Amino acid sequence: MRILLVEDETSIASFIKEGLTEEGFAVDVAHNGKAGLQLALNYLDEYDVMLLDWMLPGLSGIEICRTVRKENSEVPIIFLTAKDTTDDIVFGLEAGANDYIRKPFAFEELLARIRVVMRNKLGAGSVFSCGDIVLNVESHRVTKNGKTIDLTQKEFSLLEFLLRNKGKVSRRTRIIEKVWDLHFDYDNSVIDVYINFLRKKLDEPGTESFIETIRGVGYRINEDT
Ligand code: CA
Repeated sequence: MRILLVEDETSIASFIKEGLTEEGFAVDVAHNGKAGLQLALNYLDEYDVMLLDWMLPGLSGIEICRTVRKENSEVPIIFLTAKDTTDDIVFGLEAGANDYIRKPFAFEELLARIRVVMRNKLGAGSVFSCGDIVLNVESHRVTKNGKTIDLTQKEFSLLEFLLRNKGKVSRRTRIIEKVWDLHFDYDNSVIDVYINFLRKKLDEPGTESFIETIRGVGYRINEDT
């Protein structure tokens, strides 16, 4: 899941980015309104959540939010704001924000709100499966034959992405965009490494992998037969 964070205070920005990265999110950060808007518009369909600071140099979070909504995007938007009068909050929500969080806030609170807006967008009970493998987005749990399998955050995000696109080929470039982040400039063979981790943890020994390799293109989890 990919998040855009627009925040001019670098200490807050890095605190949020670090925390969300640890939780398995891919996070792109912009430190001013203009750069934020550009990212928002360039990757409108890529972001699953936008976190916008209200007061930003150049362009406010409100203005970014309005412009994004004009493009008819339904991406969940959460404001980070020091403003807390009722008028301000109503103004923010009227501009098209889904939620707001007052500074200073605890990271856990931000994380909880992100999960709520994503759940509302995706619909309740986001459960994906392939054969006896079941991934529950809400409880953040993967089971095989009813037994919990421990996955790292990255493994979980990668599996979730492949399952959401079940039956379709997930191209390597799409996987990098959605599961890693914009400034990811490693050799993208890192995908193969993580695919192998998933196979080791979830494949039935001695049978074909549940993740098919589409040579030179990407990977696919096939529809249950
Ligand atoms: Ca600010």
